[in-house]
Amino acid sequence: MKHLTALVIALTCSISSFAQSNFKEKTVFKNNDVEFRQLDEHTWHGNGNLVFNESVYLIEGSKSAILIDAGTKIPGLKKIAEDLVKKPVTLIISHGHGDHIGEMNEWDELWINAADEAILAEGAYKGKKHYLTDGQVFDLGGREIEVVFTPGHTPGSTTFIDKDNHYGFSSDAFGSGNLLVFTNLSTELASCQRMERFIKNYGIQYFYPGHYWGDNLETAQRVEDVGAICEGILNGLLTPAKSEDKRFPYVVELKGVKINYGPAEIR
Ligand SMILES: [Zn+2]
Repeated sequence: MKHLTALVIALTCSISSFAQSNFKEKTVFKNNDVEFRQLDEHTWHGNGNLVFNESVYLIEGSKSAILIDAGTKIPGLKKIAEDLVKKPVTLIISHGHGDHIGEMNEWDELWINAADEAILAEGAYKGKKHYLTDGQVFDLGGREIEVVFTPGHTPGSTTFIDKDNHYGFSSDAFGSGNLLVFTNLSTELASCQRMERFIKNYGIQYFYPGHYWGDNLETAQRVEDVGAICEGILNGLLTPAKSEDKRFPYVVELKGVKINYGPAEIR
């Protein structure tokens, strides 16, 4: 338990805001470790209860299904997901933090952005790794999910777009309302600007975040705001408050979002 607590503290994706639950979606499965809710006919959200509603997303097509992320500690996650869709489920990791990879070893293979491989402890994953490519499309049968690299939170943070349904899954790329910048602010800014173009071109309405509690979707406005705040910090126009957090001593809170960073990330 102590080990797990240390892991969670070390690898947490979201600090200083406790998740509330404001879900309207119907619960379709619940045990002590996870609650799955149905987002639409072929899409589900599962949330763990260890790190601010760490989220997994189950996305189904007519042929196959994918699960984005593997929680912190959700024993039996693979079976729960496969029972829901009644077909094999491929695991895709949005980024390498501990609250998104917990049950990855329940799968014999997974997909991950190679840029986050270094975050995984040596030998932590026992199976076969496939590396995502920017622009890659997962064809699930009548439903396509496009891979868009959005570094910033981590070097390999990745967003997944369902172009036909006009939404996506951005994990921690835009922070779920509380962004930790582990790379640097310019990288985050570039990802926001790039994603703004996808939003416009594809008519994307929102992204489901990596820590979802029912009313914190990442909107087009949120992506634009995160970029604008990063730019404001880089230009010296925004002055941060001091935070108690040693890794992220600076925080700018504006427009309903917090951006946490340190001196090394101001570039
Ligand atoms: Zn994270």
